[in-house]
Amino acid sequence: MTSAPRLRPDLHGVPAYRAGTRITRGALPAYSLASNEVPGDPLPGVAEAIAEHLPRLNRYPDPAATALTVRLAERLDVGTEELTLGTGSVAVCQQITLAACSPGDEVIFAWRSFEAYPIVTTLAHAQAVTVPLLPDARHDLPAMAAAVTDRTRVIFVCTPNNPTGPAVTEAELVDFLERVPPDVLVVVDEAYFEFGLAPDGTPSLDGVAVARGRPNVMVLRTFSKAYGLAGLRVGYGVASPAVAAAMRKCATPFGVSLLAQAAALASLDQQDELLLRVAAVREERARVITAARELGYAVPESAANFYWVPLGHRAERFAHTCKENGVTVRAFPDEGVRITVGETAANDVVLDLLSQWRDD
Ligand SMILES: *Cc1c(COP(=O)(O)O)cnc(C)c1O
Repeated sequence: MTSAPRLRPDLHGVPAYRAGTRITRGALPAYSLASNEVPGDPLPGVAEAIAEHLPRLNRYPDPAATALTVRLAERLDVGTEELTLGTGSVAVCQQITLAACSPGDEVIFAWRSFEAYPIVTTLAHAQAVTVPLLPDARHDLPAMAAAVTDRTRVIFVCTPNNPTGPAVTEAELVDFLERVPPDVLVVVDEAYFEFGLAPDGTPSLDGVAVARGRPNVMVLRTFSKAYGLAGLRVGYGVASPAVAAAMRKCATPFGVSLLAQAAALASLDQQDELLLRVAAVREERARVITAARELGYAVPESAANFYWVPLGHRAERFAHTCKENGVTVRAFPDEGVRITVGETAANDVVLDLLSQWRDD
């Protein structure tokens, strides 16, 4: 007889989610370029919208997040029954595997890609099937389509890919969807969607448009990245009514808090400010990536607010050096570092260090 409670043995195989390291302000200016957050305040009016709801903190939030759902449905030109919300799109990822997978089913995703995919796969008792990225850090969509078996239930396509940066094109995505059986759910993870918006608001790839008329395709988006609300935890999925209904059953009740609902709603009123913000990020991203490439680093294209430096075995040492200089970046041991495009001063610290490291 054992004395400890019996837990799931397969949790030993689940890596703890590794968040970007935090640094506290000391003598050095301390910058976090480790978690793909945008620097600075929420969009105008958001703090006020949150303040307005403070007197109601004793009340449960609207469990259906009705106002936000209606507003998103209008914005996206979909039905409210096609939406499901969660505490960040990470939570929506988990709704997907819980809703789609039975024990032993397979979930395909590129690797390296978003770290939550293997976690939500195992938590759903499913099997991860990983397909290596191409040498230029892009998804190998033909290989992913070829990896489908009759156990495959879900395929995650992360575009732009976290942590490497490249996006898939609409033509590539459509071609891929032609090859995937219609009973396999394809999830287009567009956590960085807004960084692809042109100044007039035109998206570079719109998964929601691609998913129209394809009930096995769904899209994930979040308020954590471009909208700058990572601390509040709110994201959403757009799926066929049947898939969305199944996912909502797998969501934690009252997940999206009162303040998160209010802030997301107010953020959607600030599209012009958002477009200015993403244009500034794109401009700074181009400057930083050009500079890093001129130093000789093989930085892949990025359609997001971060870039990837393939430093191989030097990745962890470089992250350590950055930290000593007041900047956290995210190291993937023996692969590379993912660096958020943040404050100009922080980006310059990293470029300086990359310059010093060039001949190392
Ligand atoms: C950041 C991120 C998310 C979701 O973040 P949330 O804060 O949970 O909304 C989802 N997918 C990718 C690829 C991300 O990088």
